[in-house]
Amino acid sequence: MELFFLGTGSGVPSKERNVSSLVLRMLEERGTTWVFDCGEGTQQQILNTNIRPRRIEAIFITHLHGDHIYGLPGLLSSRSFQGGETPVTVYGPRGLREYIDISLRISGTHLRYPLYVEEVEEGQLFEDEQFIVEAIKLKHGLESYGYILQEKDKLGELQPDKLKELGIKPGPVYQQIKNQKETKLEDGRTIQRKDVLGPSKKGRKVAILGDTRYIPELADALKNADVLVHEGTFAGEEEEMAYDYFHSTVKQAATLAKDAGAGELILNHLSSRYQGEAVEQLLKEAQTIFPNTTIAHDFYQHRILRNH
Ligand SMILES: [Zn+2]
Ligand SMILES: [Zn+2]
Repeated sequence: MELFFLGTGSGVPSKERNVSSLVLRMLEERGTTWVFDCGEGTQQQILNTNIRPRRIEAIFITHLHGDHIYGLPGLLSSRSFQGGETPVTVYGPRGLREYIDISLRISGTHLRYPLYVEEVEEGQLFEDEQFIVEAIKLKHGLESYGYILQEKDKLGELQPDKLKELGIKPGPVYQQIKNQKETKLEDGRTIQRKDVLGPSKKGRKVAILGDTRYIPELADALKNADVLVHEGTFAGEEEEMAYDYFHSTVKQAATLAKDAGAGELILNHLSSRYQGEAVEQLLKEAQTIFPNTTIAHDFYQHRILRNH
C-alpha cells in the first residue's frame, strides 16, 4: 500500500501545491486504487504519475468544499474516455449525489461504467475480506469526515517443514489446510491450521482526515493508526485563527498523533502562506511533539509500513 499525494495545499491552488487529493494504491493487495478528495486539477496531477484512472475502485470525499470536489466530475468523465469499465463507488457527505448528478447531466456526460454514490454518516461504511472502512465526523464549516481503513490480519504462510514433520506430502491438501481451520486427512488425522502456519501479518490501520478543527477526543478512534494523514493548515501559534476557520495547526495535529499512539503522521492541506523555510519551520514544530512527522508535498509518495 502506498500513498500518493496529488494536492497538498489548502483553499486555492498555488504553483507549489495543488488543491486536495491523494491516492491510496493497493496493487499488491487488491489491484485497485482508492482516491481521497478530488480538488480541481486532480486528473492533470495524475498525468504526472503512473496512477491509472481505470484502476480506481472507490473515491472518498471528506467534505464538499470546492478545493476537495471541483475535480471530481472531470475525473469521472475522463475515466470513461480512457476505457474504465469497472464500477466506481463515491462516498461522501450529504449533497454529494446531487452535485455529481447535476454536473454529469448538465454537461451531457454519459459514463460507460456503473457509478454508485453513497452518502455517508458516522460509522462503518463497509467491510470486505480485506478491509473495514469507517467514517468519523470532524468539525469544519461544512459536514466533514475522516476515513479510517482497518486492514484485516493476513494469515501466515504454510510451513512446509511442519507439514513434513507430520508426514503430509505436498499436494492439493496443502491448499485445503490453508483454506480451512481444520482439515481431516485421509488417514483419519485432523490437522489444525494454526499448528502449521507461520505468524500472521497484522493488518495496517490508515486514517485519512478531511479539514477539521483540532478534536482531542479523536485519539480513541485513531488509536494505533500506522499512518495518520491530518491537515496542518496553520503554524503552531495560529491556534485562534485555526479555530475560527475550522482548521488545525501543525502542533495540534502532532498532539493528536502522539495521543493516538500513531506510527507516523503526514501533514497536508498547508496554507500557501507557508513556503520554503517556513515549511521547514512547521515541520520542526510538529516534530518537537511527534518526531515521526512528514509534511507532504505534491507527488510525495509514501509506503505504508506496519508499525505496530
Ligand atoms: Zn480544504
Ligand atoms: Zn474545507
